[in-house]
Amino acid sequence: MAFFLPLAPIHHHSSSLFTRFILSPKPKTLTTLSSLTATTLQDFTHPEQTHLQVPQDKLFIPPDTQILSETPPRILKGSNIVLSKYAKDAQVISADFVKSSVETEACPSDGSPEFALVGRSNVGKSSLLNSIVRRKKLALTSKKPGKTQCINHFRINDSWYLVDLPGYGYASAPNELRKDWNKFTKDYFLNRSTLVSVFLLIDASIPAKKIDLEYASWLGQNQVPMTIIFTKCDKRKKKKNGGKHPEENVQDFQDLISEYFEAVPPWIMTSSVTNQGRDEILLHMAQLRNYWLKH
Ligand code: GDP
Repeated sequence: MAFFLPLAPIHHHSSSLFTRFILSPKPKTLTTLSSLTATTLQDFTHPEQTHLQVPQDKLFIPPDTQILSETPPRILKGSNIVLSKYAKDAQVISADFVKSSVETEACPSDGSPEFALVGRSNVGKSSLLNSIVRRKKLALTSKKPGKTQCINHFRINDSWYLVDLPGYGYASAPNELRKDWNKFTKDYFLNRSTLVSVFLLIDASIPAKKIDLEYASWLGQNQVPMTIIFTKCDKRKKKKNGGKHPEENVQDFQDLISEYFEAVPPWIMTSSVTNQGRDEILLHMAQLRNYWLKH
């Protein structure tokens, strides 16, 4: 099943997960979906949040998951992600900073699955990381001088990793340095065999930025499994927002990147202020991780 498969692959990604995804049997869902009616997220969202309707063909169906026409799929609220039987052990019990690495080869080598957070500077990456682990200062480790350009590994429940990658698009960074960061993170994306999914953070309070679109298309064209995390979804003010609400920006971003992906990537709307999306991120990570561990 070609989850995340782009239309024009440039490079064959070495991730064993991707190989597993494309080799796994095609779920029946594709044939039965069309007979279902459009699914609304209304029932799964908080009353104070605006809802997005996700058409059936825009849902992300995790591997080894079947949807039968008689039972409507359960969808994680504020996302396009269908809940699977692998969604268990989603709680964070412990979170510990392990190490900062300056190259892929130096990263922990115990073979545990990992998820990497990346996004434009100021997108809300540190806030989200702290919201996920429910600690105020954990991600600050990665904000210390010298660590912002590193691959920072946090061990969760002594069984898997959250990885904080250098932010991109710093306005003040010299061009040379920006290029280095690109090379550095790209090498990690292409060569880290335990990487289950990249979590690309996109600010939903502003219209799509060119650099974010470039990043998403690069991940798509290189077949790197990707989840889009829309941040700052609590920001409802229209100023500096081109008159658009987060829901509209979320929709626009997906339309803009759709040509790079054959299958729709999973996405989740989040806010570190209201903790919207926190449980959904953890459930999504759990179901990808548990599938990965079993295959
Ligand atoms: P980073 O540079 O990507 O690590 O971003 P930070 O986590 O440091 O956040 C950048 C700025 O955005 C800070 O002023 C945060 O308070 C703010 N911010 C982060 N997440 C949210 C969010 O979910 N909602 C709102 N309204 N502001 C946020």
